Amino acid sequence: MAEKFKFKPSDPKTLADSCDVVIIGSGGAGLVSALQARELGLRPIVLEKMPIVGGNTLRASSGMNAAETNVQLRHGIVDSFSEFYQETYQGGGRLNDPKLLSYFTTHSGQAIDWLHWHGIKLNDLTITGGMSKKRAHRPQSTAPVGAFLINNLLWLLAQVEVPIFTNAKVEKLLKSEEGKIRGVEVDLAGQKQTIVTDAVILATGGFGASKELMKRYRPDLLSYKTTNQNGATGDGIKLATQLGAQAIQMEMVQIHPTVQQDTDHTYLIGEAVRGEGAILVDHSGVRFTDELGTRKVVANKITDLPQKSAYLIFDEGVKQRVKALDFYLQKGLVLQAESIAELATKLNMEQTTLHDTLLRWNTAVETKKDVQFGRHTGMQRKLIQAPFYAIHIAPAIHYTMGGLHIDEKTRVLDENGEIIPGLFAAGEVAGGLHGNNRIGGNSIAETVVFGRQAGQQVAQYLE
Ligand code: ADP
Repeated sequence: MAEKFKFKPSDPKTLADSCDVVIIGSGGAGLVSALQARELGLRPIVLEKMPIVGGNTLRASSGMNAAETNVQLRHGIVDSFSEFYQETYQGGGRLNDPKLLSYFTTHSGQAIDWLHWHGIKLNDLTITGGMSKKRAHRPQSTAPVGAFLINNLLWLLAQVEVPIFTNAKVEKLLKSEEGKIRGVEVDLAGQKQTIVTDAVILATGGFGASKELMKRYRPDLLSYKTTNQNGATGDGIKLATQLGAQAIQMEMVQIHPTVQQDTDHTYLIGEAVRGEGAILVDHSGVRFTDELGTRKVVANKITDLPQKSAYLIFDEGVKQRVKALDFYLQKGLVLQAESIAELATKLNMEQTTLHDTLLRWNTAVETKKDVQFGRHTGMQRKLIQAPFYAIHIAPAIHYTMGGLHIDEKTRVLDENGEIIPGLFAAGEVAGGLHGNNRIGGNSIAETVVFGRQAGQQVAQYLE
């Protein structure tokens, strides 16, 4: 079924001139909200400006965070919404919007169940930086979560006949004299068209690929590469602010610590690699941080190194636990060696130094005590099983925490905190949930929790 499904975008000739709700963007938030809205009886249209669907969600690798799930219990993990809340709040510099965070954490378990009920089973668990428990739910095969989610959602949406158009860029939101949403203007494969609608869900993602917005909000980051797809240019923020919406925390941009960037393309090496036991060493082969600190902390530690880059080191045992590593190997991004000595030689390091580092680390794993850096997660296996591997990484722009001001019902708010009737936003386009640092695994969770919420709230709004 879903595995063999090949997505085909809707024929541009079939675009209707009116519908119940227009959903802008085909990442996790857009597709989840479309499915939820459709299941509540609405007729949505999804518009995606790029030639391919899936947005940055397609690139997400580690997992989807959630607490108090049956999957966790099956793995013997007793968790709570309040711990999930507190750890996300701490990790976000206590700048997270408490209402959004509360809705998010308390609906995370339900979101996993909802996916499961739709046949999207995330039965395996891993851990990401800043979390004390295994909350990152992922497919049993340990395959990257993003593509798995998108492919399944596309299949489900095809079953219920939701049209999805590609090369369809929304250029303007239209509102009535009383300030209610009444339509959108879209450029569909070069043709300008208007769709009349009473509700719009902005699911356009962030602005991690926009030099223009980065220059405005974070000029200090202009030299950084980005992990984002080219379409992540903050369009939703621009479209909504033109109608008076408020954008918040726009300077809060996340740098991901472990990005392979030695070729033209950037490859994010997901946190699951460290979560399953990898360590980070500097160019001399010495550890320099708790590898599972929050992204902000680990990225800063790497930037502080003279070379501003480091190596992820792991063994066959870790490789077996993260399917994406096969892909990185195939792409030639991973150095492989039959022994630690050979790996050190390949990395231009003193053999004894790398040897000592691994010896100390393996002792830490055995004694469950990392005396050097106090790491206490991702320590379930020693690095002892040949072959040994290394990936050269450095920090890159990854995620924009800021965005449109919404309430916990995903309604977009204006500068005075008033609701803009008919305008909803979910996913990375919205600001406030993550504070100044997003926790790995929380973005996929955000797209599902708030994508569902947007679909439900639109249905209620249109009643
Ligand atoms: P999220 O994780 O919040 O769902 P993604 O980055 O996965 O966000 O997806 C957002 C999608 O929205 C991307 O595929 C992007 O190309 C699309 N998009 C952005 N701006 C527009 C626009 N103006 N019109 C249509 N699609 C857009």
